[in-house]
Amino acid sequence: MERIVVFLGAGASKSDGAPLQKELFRAYMDSVDESGETRERYYKNNPFYKNVKSDLFAFFDVYFGINLSHSREALFPTFEEALGVLEVEGGYAGKETVRKYKDAIIASMALAIESQLDNKRSEQNYRIIDSYHKLLIENLCDRGGHQVDFLSTNYDLLADNALLSQGRPINYGFTDQGHGIRLLKLHGSMNWLYCPGCGRIQATGAAEISANNLLDFSAHKCENCGSVQTSVIIPPTYFKNFVQYGDNIRRVWENAYEALSQADRIIICGYSFPHADIHIKTLLKKSEQGRKRSTPLKVSVFNGYEGKSGEEKRKEAYRYLRFLRKDTILDYQGDIPFEEFAKSPQQYIDGTQGGTI
Ligand SMILES: [Zn+2]
Repeated sequence: MERIVVFLGAGASKSDGAPLQKELFRAYMDSVDESGETRERYYKNNPFYKNVKSDLFAFFDVYFGINLSHSREALFPTFEEALGVLEVEGGYAGKETVRKYKDAIIASMALAIESQLDNKRSEQNYRIIDSYHKLLIENLCDRGGHQVDFLSTNYDLLADNALLSQGRPINYGFTDQGHGIRLLKLHGSMNWLYCPGCGRIQATGAAEISANNLLDFSAHKCENCGSVQTSVIIPPTYFKNFVQYGDNIRRVWENAYEALSQADRIIICGYSFPHADIHIKTLLKKSEQGRKRSTPLKVSVFNGYEGKSGEEKRKEAYRYLRFLRKDTILDYQGDIPFEEFAKSPQQYIDGTQGGTI
């Protein structure tokens, strides 16, 4: 039995049908266009569905000169760019409109993810599997018998729902104790609500949550003190803002450090180790330095996707190679997508070749 940390990047969610960050606004627009009628019916009891649309359209008009009532074809900013600008601006001005736009962007993200996952679920082959996240958890935790912690940079609830649907309680790492499988979501989560009154994060049941919950923030009042709760979505570039959530996010990262420094093996799925993610890099570096195992660390990378070029693979492998300690055993599988790994993780774990970097 190994202690394993599975690191889930955007590519893992993509395997289960979620849009990438850069595709989010396009995906939202498609959901408004193609299935708008059904969605509007679905959300008919939620007056905020329409508000999200009009606020988002206004935001694109004011900030990017994109007129969506005129044409739906546009070169959209990434989710992080859009939210980042408002994050910083809100910090200076705290304007009501800034907050309104921010809420609309987060709600549109939830709607986009939900709609794309619905599309994925209707695919014939996929219905049998249900979710690659689920498959991985079954194969790794049950059949493999490993002790597994999950780290994720994703806001969606694919890993959460996979764990809950198998009756496994989740430990999000908000405290030092906690029970269940650790799922440490380093950049926040769609089902987390923060209460500025008592400084606590509450995670709503992931299996039930839908975008409905994110459409109207004023509906979420803290059970404890009655304050209006806020979402907890922290794009990586604006990570310094995590202090606004009290000690909760710091503890999530401390738990991540603890899990990484105890790991025999880190399995990185759907993550290309981008230059900008300096907080993730620092976390990894500190955990290498504070390593509590005597054997060399094994790092496996699974990040295959359609159309990935040889040049991309070479550059990605190089990013991992130059950053990791030279006594680490790197098993770089740039061709193997998350779904392939999820089907037979043990085969890949057994097949790791020796030899350090
Ligand atoms: Zn409260």
